[in-house]
Amino acid sequence: MRLPGFVNAHSHAFQRALRGRAEGGDFWAWRESMLSLAGEQTTERVRREYAAVYREMRAAGYTAVGEFHYLGLDEARAAAEAAEEARIGLVLLLAAYGRGGLDRFRQPSVADYLEQVERLRADGVAVGVAPHSVRACPRGWLDELGRYADAEGLVLHVHADEQPREIEECLAEHGLRPVELLAETGCLGPRTTIVHGTHASDRELDLLAEHGARVCLCPTTEANLGDGYAPVERLRERGIPLCIGSDSNVRIDPLEELRELEGIARRSALRRNVVSPDDLLRIGGPEGAAALGLAAWDDVEADASHPSLAGVDGPDLAAALVFGCAADVLSPV
Ligand SMILES: [Zn+2]
Repeated sequence: MRLPGFVNAHSHAFQRALRGRAEGGDFWAWRESMLSLAGEQTTERVRREYAAVYREMRAAGYTAVGEFHYLGLDEARAAAEAAEEARIGLVLLLAAYGRGGLDRFRQPSVADYLEQVERLRADGVAVGVAPHSVRACPRGWLDELGRYADAEGLVLHVHADEQPREIEECLAEHGLRPVELLAETGCLGPRTTIVHGTHASDRELDLLAEHGARVCLCPTTEANLGDGYAPVERLRERGIPLCIGSDSNVRIDPLEELRELEGIARRSALRRNVVSPDDLLRIGGPEGAAALGLAAWDDVEADASHPSLAGVDGPDLAAALVFGCAADVLSPV
């Protein structure tokens, strides 16, 4: 049976190399491992290893990916070439990084960042504007990035509310929570996707709904990093569109992301069917494409003869896929 391909709206492909190698510490210890790996990246390595990760994604049913990239401009081009080789659709979410992190993450000014965006666009790369986080971008940068994305009609993706510490720091600096700051700086709109939103307050969720913004959940990574439970029911109550991402690539399986998303919702709400199977498949595919501003991406085929689908009738396929299958039932068309 043919269905729209799954869309991985949030990936850091280089982090795939940490699989099995970064257990044992907390989020901030994991971040240290991640930073050291980021420091080792070269254009050749990105070109080679991202192609392998993107092939793994495509084999798992993801036919497009939003690569949230903060390793430098040449490496961004290498990522785009890797995606082309692996025949996966790519939107390069070029991270704006004003402070913190490694030298290679940062641009000297927001004008330098926008010049990098323009150069990639001139090269024909599909680009989104991506203030890394309120931690990495000063307020003046956010004002400028929100204005530019809106004027150019580009998608804007930003990490927010993943860890309580980020919220405490934002309150201390600005007297605002991250999503409140994004709203005040013009970064929220219908082309905006907040990544995680795990610890968003009701007021922050109301702001997302008012501005028509989306939220990308990355359930397997959020579980692995001990981030917390995504507020699935509170997001759905407000009609906030959702999509999924494999983020750290500790797992690459869209069906597992969706199953985990609904599992979180059921455990929190103490009831079943918080999000219907059909809606989960829309979250897995078309909603991710909308978050990336993609009009077209490849379909996938679900193998009806696979043992995981034995005895499943057509009308039950969506539920059987999400709740009873792994990505090995899927293949790109
Ligand atoms: Zn991320």
